Amino acid sequence: MTTLRKRIPALAALVLLLLTAVAAVLPLRASEPRPASAPVGDFSAARAVARLDNIARVPHPAGSAAQSDVREYLLGELRELGLRPEVQARVAPSDSDDTPAVVGSVSNIHATIPGSRPTGRVLLVAHYDSVPIAPGAADDGANVAAILEIARALMTGPQLRNDLEILFTDGEEQGLLGARAFVDAEADTHRAADPRRTVVVNLEGRGPSGPVVMFQTAGTGLVPAVRASGALTTSFSDAIYDQLPNDTDLTAFEEAGMRGLDFAFINGAGHYHTSHDDIARLDRASVQDMGEAALAAVRRLGGADLSRSGTNATYFSLFGTVVSYPAWLVPPLAAVTLLGVALLLWFGPRRGLSPRGAARAAATFPLTLIGAVVAGSAGWWVLSLA
Ligand SMILES: [Zn+2]
Repeated sequence: MTTLRKRIPALAALVLLLLTAVAAVLPLRASEPRPASAPVGDFSAARAVARLDNIARVPHPAGSAAQSDVREYLLGELRELGLRPEVQARVAPSDSDDTPAVVGSVSNIHATIPGSRPTGRVLLVAHYDSVPIAPGAADDGANVAAILEIARALMTGPQLRNDLEILFTDGEEQGLLGARAFVDAEADTHRAADPRRTVVVNLEGRGPSGPVVMFQTAGTGLVPAVRASGALTTSFSDAIYDQLPNDTDLTAFEEAGMRGLDFAFINGAGHYHTSHDDIARLDRASVQDMGEAALAAVRRLGGADLSRSGTNATYFSLFGTVVSYPAWLVPPLAAVTLLGVALLLWFGPRRGLSPRGAARAAATFPLTLIGAVVAGSAGWWVLSLA
């Protein structure tokens, strides 16, 4: 009886821990896809996916005949929405450090929905080329289709305060050629006087499924838009991504001084850049999740004062929302944590805490991280044997 009573706090702690873990993981599910009959102001995955037959039925790499068919389709759809799209044809270099330089001629597609009292512009971007062997349903056809659906939904509602520019880039797979061409063209015309007044919303597909993740930001003051999007996020992933050689179009815009957010669905990455990246394997729930997130972020940014770029912040998803605090709070918070540990070690032994036990518990944290990396790498190695 006494032992049981002694264990009650431990059991309660365990139950609390499990409930917290479940609550943290619950929002990791992608949204329920909405049917074509969804209200006109909402994003419908069914309406977006219906367009994919014209975008991602076959591989459509930069410069191919299949890609020029896709381009004609996209121009037609933008005109159908009442916009006046333009093709931006230009030669651009890949400008990459670690791969041989590539120079290519690209044809970006660009259209503007004017704002009522613009303080800046929101640049909504997806690339409309695929790699040569993939139909590119997830990378990046679904997101091109999503942008058409987002533009349609926005045009049924009130005019946004800021300009919204739609950009379908070409030659992303060859080294962000289209994004670099867009930046170069603006530099030539001195168009972007203050590049921080442009906020890019870039949509990518790294696999055919999974919830939408906001994995990279450029610049500051964007946490409210991330929170509005409901996407999973952490500024920690930003720090990791900065160290990786992977690039998206956002890299080119960031180098030009623009701010921005990078959204992607990333599950099932084994299909990425293979013939398996097709319409049948694309998860409609991921399309819905991405569409809702991007539409909400665009609505938020579209109404914001983009002349104010805010301060640097630390942020992360927790229980379905985004917690954030200014970056200057990080050192004091770290100091408080260290102080807490020191106090624990000071008072702990009087209540039965053994220094060796505390050291063992502290060691489990890095061991978990290392263990996860080892298990992941070993799993990948086993998969690549097949
Ligand atoms: Zn891509």
